[in-house]
Amino acid sequence: MRTTPNTERTGRVAEPTRGWGPTHSGSDLDQGQELAIAVDVDGVLFDHIPYVLRGFRDAHGIDLADEGLRYWDFFQYQAVREAGLTEECVRSVLDRIETDPALHERGPRDPFAARVMDAWKQAGHRVDVVTARGEISREVTRRFLRTNEIPYDELVMEAETKTGWDLLVDDAAHNVLAAADDGSTALLMDQPYNRDVDAQGNPHRVHDWVEVARLLEPAAPSPTP
Ligand SMILES: [Mg+2]
Repeated sequence: MRTTPNTERTGRVAEPTRGWGPTHSGSDLDQGQELAIAVDVDGVLFDHIPYVLRGFRDAHGIDLADEGLRYWDFFQYQAVREAGLTEECVRSVLDRIETDPALHERGPRDPFAARVMDAWKQAGHRVDVVTARGEISREVTRRFLRTNEIPYDELVMEAETKTGWDLLVDDAAHNVLAAADDGSTALLMDQPYNRDVDAQGNPHRVHDWVEVARLLEPAAPSPTP
C-alpha cells in the first residue's frame, strides 16, 4: 500500500536533472505548491543503529562497527557470512528491535524533525511516514511518533518502493535512487552504509533536519527560536 499523489501534484515535480549543488540555498520544488512528502522511519526519524549493533553483538557476537557499518546489506559483512547467519537470523534481530515498545518510548534521531514536519503540515503539505517495516511494527511505530509528537497524515507500513511522492527523505540508497529516477526530489539521510552513493544532485545528501528544512524554506522553521 502506498499513497499516490494526484497528477496535478506529480505534474509539477521538480525535474530530477535539475539537482542542487552544495551552495544552493533551496530546492527547485515550487514553494507555493502543496506537496506530498514521504519520510522514512529507521535511520531518519528513529535511530535504529545502536539497537542493530547491540542486537548482532548480543545474539551472534558480531560487531558490525568493526567493518565500519558500511554496508546496507547485512550479508556483505564478512563477520555475518563467516558466522553463517541466515536471513531468518538477521530478520529476528531486526524484528526484536522493530517490535520493542520500550525502544519506541525514546527520543528521535533528530529532535528538529518534528518541528520541520509540523511546519510542512502547517504550510499545507501532506506528510506521510513511510516505512518498509512490517504491519507487526505498526503499533510501536505509532507509539514512537506519538511519544515524540511527530505529526503526520498517514503511516504507511510495508512500503516496497517509495516512489509517487514529490519529496522523499530516506536513508536507503535504493529508495532514494528509485524515487529520484521516478521524478521525485529525494533526500538521502547520511549514514555510514550509504556513503558510497553519489548524492550531490538528485538524490541529494543531507546530514540532519536543519539541512532538510532548508530545502523547503520559508515553510520550514529556523533551528533557533
Ligand atoms: Mg530507513
